[in-house]
Amino acid sequence: MRGARPGLVVRAVVVVATTGIAASGLTACGGSEGDGGRVGVVASFYPLQFVAERVGGDLVRVQNLVKPGAEPHDLELQPSQVAAIIDADLVLYLSGFQPSVDDVAGQQPPAKTLDVADIAALDAAATSVAIQVEPAEKDPHVWLDPTRLAATGLAVADRLAQIDPVHAGDYQAKAESLRGQLTALDGEYARGLANCVRRDIITSHAAFGYLASRYDLTQIAVTGLSPDEEASPERLAEVAQTARETGATTIFFETLVSNRVAQTVAEEIGAKAAVLDPIEGLEPGSTGDYFSIMRSNLTTLRSALDCQ
Ligand SMILES: [Zn+2]
Repeated sequence: MRGARPGLVVRAVVVVATTGIAASGLTACGGSEGDGGRVGVVASFYPLQFVAERVGGDLVRVQNLVKPGAEPHDLELQPSQVAAIIDADLVLYLSGFQPSVDDVAGQQPPAKTLDVADIAALDAAATSVAIQVEPAEKDPHVWLDPTRLAATGLAVADRLAQIDPVHAGDYQAKAESLRGQLTALDGEYARGLANCVRRDIITSHAAFGYLASRYDLTQIAVTGLSPDEEASPERLAEVAQTARETGATTIFFETLVSNRVAQTVAEEIGAKAAVLDPIEGLEPGSTGDYFSIMRSNLTTLRSALDCQ
């Protein structure tokens, strides 16, 4: 799905598509030799890559700006990545999550960018029966609510259909299929977390607000919305005290960043530390994907919270 040549071919597709000549069906996806005329999509981090690949299939070529194993919040764009954004047919990003991407994506024509922060909230509200109130602080981790990721998939399909109208039906069908799978996952979470001894989750950084909101859990985070924030000794002591009061047996840490904070709190209260993956990126060599990691997270949560 990757590895095709970027550059002139893709730029030609943009010009054709945006001037409306693409309707013949031979131009947008059939006219470019070399990369098969695929739509060039830049995704600013893994969950958006995942959605683009699921919705676009073989019709798109997706480039993730974050390398496997890197932490996406503090991505610094290389000149080649800025060029990739400029050359892309469609740029998927999430404003408020990666400031360096916000800067460049914000300078692109609106027709070729999709800010998932807007879409995820609006469309989920329109398509889902039980949407919770937004967390008070602007939380970018929307993908951890499967229903919001489903809404994102539908929005991505709409945009791909505008760029490549000949295949509008393919994009729509794939987005609906993805929505079906995400709805099933949502059901597994709802059932799996319905009857638990505890409902407080103590995490290293505050990535799980949307997940907690969706499944009626309470997130207690040692640091804020970005994993780079340093936790003060006072904050660590405060969280340890709260953890004791809730009877927590597990303190969650995540892949891609240090587990020092979680280990400190866990040792302090005699709990264990376990991975709860915010799916901000895959680890190098990982064979998992959004679904497998979400299901692994559910198993971890059910164990930590004593769910039946
Ligand atoms: Zn995060």
